[in-house]
Amino acid sequence: MKQALKFSVMGQDDNIYEVTIERDVNDLGNLQAGCSCTDAKDGDLCAHRFEILEGGTANIVSENIEDVQALREWIKGSDIEVAMTELSKAKTELMLAHEKVAKCRAMLVRRMQD
Ligand SMILES: [Zn+2]
Repeated sequence: MKQALKFSVMGQDDNIYEVTIERDVNDLGNLQAGCSCTDAKDGDLCAHRFEILEGGTANIVSENIEDVQALREWIKGSDIEVAMTELSKAKTELMLAHEKVAKCRAMLVRRMQD
């Protein structure tokens, strides 16, 4: 049996998209997250799902903002939580790499001048 949480989300293009998070009661750690936007249909990660999964409520236009708390419980220990954590780590590593590149460029310029 499937359980679902559905949110209507206002996109940056002012269209409203339907984000649906589902899980099977026999496999609670495996979440599915779908969205009605074209990015999701093309297999890309859309901002609508990402924002909902991160707990963002600013663009929810459906009358069920309290379901975000239930979703938070669903995410704990799920396959999506693992993937979100990996993505967050990768973003941090990328930011640190950008900082290191900037420092190395500055060092190169200093070496060129002394
Ligand atoms: Zn979407």
